[in-house]
This record gives sequence, structure tokens and C-alpha cells, in this order.
Amino acid sequence: MKKRTSKSVNYFDIHSHLHSDFFNRKENGQIVAKEMKERGFFSTIIGVSFDDSQKAVDMAGKNKNLFCSIGIHPTEKEEFSESDFKQLLQAGGDKVVCIGECGLDYYWPMKDLESGKINQEELQREKKRQRELFKKQIDFALENDLPLMLHVRSFKNADAHEEAFKILDEKEKESGQKIRADFHFFTEGPEIVKEIVKRDFMISLPGVITFADLDDSILEIPLENLMLETDSPFVAPKPYRGKTNTPLYLEEIAKKVAEVKKMDIEEIRKKSVENALDFFRIEKW
Ligand SMILES: [Zn+2]
Repeated sequence: MKKRTSKSVNYFDIHSHLHSDFFNRKENGQIVAKEMKERGFFSTIIGVSFDDSQKAVDMAGKNKNLFCSIGIHPTEKEEFSESDFKQLLQAGGDKVVCIGECGLDYYWPMKDLESGKINQEELQREKKRQRELFKKQIDFALENDLPLMLHVRSFKNADAHEEAFKILDEKEKESGQKIRADFHFFTEGPEIVKEIVKRDFMISLPGVITFADLDDSILEIPLENLMLETDSPFVAPKPYRGKTNTPLYLEEIAKKVAEVKKMDIEEIRKKSVENALDFFRIEKW
């Protein structure tokens, strides 16, 4: 593989929602993007529905330091239209570097079951709907040779993770192709880290690691598989908790990883940037 230069990239937040309504209700994404540019911060902004993906494509097109991912989040009750997404992909050109966020979220449907909002039959139907939506996006990513931004959230005993691994394994077998994927917002234990690393997928750590004890997981993640994200505007890291999270806070997450791994922050910064550029196959900006 060709060696890329990460020289002008200071930090790369591989998962944020700067373009989204959530973000722009609180802050002006364009102003943040401008400050990021001045400080060498890059980000891949992530779509959660078709309309939201369209906004991500628009914003990435206007900012040198932003790339985007297009897809449908598992809790969005929306059909995946291959032709619509194909068009969007073409419109976005090489700014579209990923598919997702997609995957399985068994947390919210299980919560709904617990509170009596849905019954057992509806739960099974919802899980099936999510699996089908996920599979379509895996196929789409493989067809277009793009990596996947995975949102996998288990309720308990890694229920969604086990199912996601099963689906990914099956899809690799069926297609004969290697899937490239990142498990975004990773807050699971070291056992799940091993399952991900074994498959040579990536793991991105969020701000949560600055205030919850995930040290065992952090220690288990090889540098080769590590990326950093804010999931901005959600869940700001310490010492910014309660504030609107922005990609500019990514340094706090790098700091924490360096502290736990007993490494130099510069090494974590550099490697996480290189991994991001490799993962998204970004060669120029
Ligand atoms: Zn997200």
C-alpha cells in the first residue's frame, strides 16, 4: 500500500454530525468547520437517514477538511433505496468515503419492550427489519468498494454484537470480499475488542473514555486498529461535559488513550490520523 502523508492533518475525527439539525440547533456547524480548518482538524461527517446524508454531502462538498458517510441508522424507520443512494454517491464524488452509520441497535427496542411500548412479536419484527436494512448497506458498500461505519448497540450479553458479527461473517463468505468496517462509539469490554480485531475491523473510541473506566478495552486495542471520534454534538469528553461536543475536543480523547497506554500523545495523534486516512482511503484534500 502507498504511504500517505498525514503532515497537514493535525487531528481526524472519524465520526461527527456537524451538518445535522441536532448540531445546528445548538451551534453553527460552518463556523466550527472554519475553526477546524485553521487548526488542521478534519472530520468525516456521518449521515443517519437519506435526507441527513444529503446534507452531509452538501457540507463536505463545501469544506476541504470534511468528508462524509451516507447511510441509514438502524433506528431510523426508513427503506434503503439503492438507486437514491447511488445517485447521492455520484453527486458526492470522492468526498463520500464511507457507508453508514448502519448496523444493529437492540438497546432501544429492548427498552421499548421493557416499558410495554411494544410486545415480543413486534420486537422480533423490529430486529428483523434492522438486520435487512443492515445487509442492504453492506451489499452497497461492497459494490462500491467503501468501508462501513457501524453503529452496533447491544442491550445485554452482546446480543447485537454477536448478531452483527454473524451477518458480517456471512456477507464476507457470500461475496468472497473482505469487508472494511469501523465499530463506532466503542464502549464494550475487551472480549468484544478481541472479536473485532480478529476480523481486522477498526474501533473508534469516543469521549466516554474520559469519564468511564474503559481502560481494559483501551489496552486491548492494537494501535493498528484504533481511531478517534467525538460523535459530536453528543457526549462531550471531560472537561467539557455538558457542553455541545465539537471535533475540536478530540484531543482530550487522544490524551486519555495516551495516558492509559502509557504512550506519547504525539504517537497516538499521528497513528490515529494515519489510520483514518487509510481507512477512508483519502489521498488528497
Ligand atoms: Zn453518530
